Amino acid sequence: MAVTIDIARDNPNAATVSIPASSPAEDKPTLIGLSRVELGEALGTIGVPQKQWRMRASQLWHWLYVRGVSDFSQMTNIAKDLRQKLADAFSIARPDIVSEQISVDGTRKWLFRFPPRGAGRPVEVETVYIPEEGRGTLCVSSQVGCTLTCTFCHTGTQKLVRNLTAEEILSQILMARDRLGDFPEAHTPQGAIVPSEGRLVSNIVMMGMGEPLYNFDNVKKALLIASDGDGLSLSKRRITLSTSGVVPEIFRTGEEIGCMLAISLHAVRDDLRDVLVPINKKWDIKELLDACRAYPGLSNAKRITFEYVMLKGVNDSNQDALDLVRLLKGIPAKINLIPFNPWPGSEYECSDWERIEEFADIVNRAGYASPIRTPRGRDIFAACGQLKSASERMRKKDRDALAAS
Ligand code: SAH
Ligand code: SF4
Repeated sequence: MAVTIDIARDNPNAATVSIPASSPAEDKPTLIGLSRVELGEALGTIGVPQKQWRMRASQLWHWLYVRGVSDFSQMTNIAKDLRQKLADAFSIARPDIVSEQISVDGTRKWLFRFPPRGAGRPVEVETVYIPEEGRGTLCVSSQVGCTLTCTFCHTGTQKLVRNLTAEEILSQILMARDRLGDFPEAHTPQGAIVPSEGRLVSNIVMMGMGEPLYNFDNVKKALLIASDGDGLSLSKRRITLSTSGVVPEIFRTGEEIGCMLAISLHAVRDDLRDVLVPINKKWDIKELLDACRAYPGLSNAKRITFEYVMLKGVNDSNQDALDLVRLLKGIPAKINLIPFNPWPGSEYECSDWERIEEFADIVNRAGYASPIRTPRGRDIFAACGQLKSASERMRKKDRDALAAS
C-alpha cells in the first residue's frame, strides 16, 4: 500500500518524501518501552529460565536501543530458535510513516501512525526534527491532541484523543534516528541537513503535541529509557520537558525524571494568563513560580526555561518585559521568546520584529542572553504550536461513514 503524500504548504521547495508503508501492525505485545525487569518477565512468558532474564534483557536492550534494530532476525548473538520464539510472541516493529516533510531550513516533520490500543482506533502523531550547528533537537509528542485549550496553540484545538504509551513516545525517537541514519551501520540520507559533528539526535524536547505532565507515568518511563546509559544514552541535561503549568507534577518531574524543565509562561498577569493558558485558573502564576523555585537540582548550571510567545498587542509591551524579569528574579532562569506561529483560524498575530527586539533588549539588559527562538519549519507547519494531527478528523470521518450506512 502506498502512503499519503503531503504537499508542503505554500512552499514549492519544501520536499515531501514518499515512504513505502510497512506491513500492517501485528497485534502482539511490544518489547519497546518495557523496563529491564519487565523485559525479563516477558521473557519468562516464553519459557526463558529466570536465571537468564537479566542477561537476555541486557542483550535485547542493546539491540533495541544501541543498535536500533526493528526485527528479531537481526539479533545475531541470540540463538535462532529463541529469536523465532521472540518474533512469534512479541513485536518490536516501528509505526507506519504517513508522511515525512522536509523544510527548506532542514527541519523535518513526520506523521507517524500507531496501531489501535484495545478497542481504540489508530492514532497519528507528529514529531519534528530541528538540525542546528552542533546539535539536533527532536520535538516529541506526549499525547494525541490536548485536554488544555491555550488560545494561541493549534494542538489545543484538537480534543484529546488519548495519551501516548511509553512505547509510542520512545518510537518517535527510534523512528527519527532510523530516518536520519543515526544508528550504527546506518546511512544519513543524501542532502539531509544535520549537525556537522556529534549525534544527529542529541537533544529531546517534550514540546510536541500534548501536555506531558498529564501523561506523567508514560513520559517518565520513556524518558528514563531514553536517558539510560546502556541504551539511547541521552543526557538528562539534553532532555527538556515543557509544561503549561501542571503544578502538582513539577516537583516529581525533577525528582523522578531529573530532566530540564521549561514552563510555558506567556503572560505576567493572572488575568491575561487565565485567557492564554487557561490552566492558570487552576494554578496561578504565584503557585507556578513557587513550584519552579522548589524544582530539584536547580542552579545556575541547571536553569528553568521560561517560554514566552510574542503576541501582537497582547503581551508584548515594554511593561510586560519589565514585569517578566521582575517576576523571575531569584529563579535560575533562561527566557525563550517565541515568535507566534500562525495557523488557520488563529485569532492572534505575531508581534512585529522591532517589538520583539525591543522586548528582547529589556530581557537582555536584565542578564538573559540571546532569548529569541528562531521559528523553524514554518513552511511545513512544523513550528511550535502548529502541530495537529488528523486523528480527530479521522474519527469524524468514521462517524460520518457510520451515520451514512
Ligand atoms: N503542552 C506543553 C508542551 C507543548 S507546546 C506546553 O504547553 O508547554 C510547546 C511550546 O510551544 C509551548 O511553550 C507552547 O506554549 C508553545 N506554543 C504553542 N502554540 C504556539 C504558537 N502558535 N506559536 C508559538 N509557540 C506556541
Ligand atoms: Fe496543550 Fe501545550 Fe498547546 Fe496548551 S500550549 S494547548 S498545554 S499543547
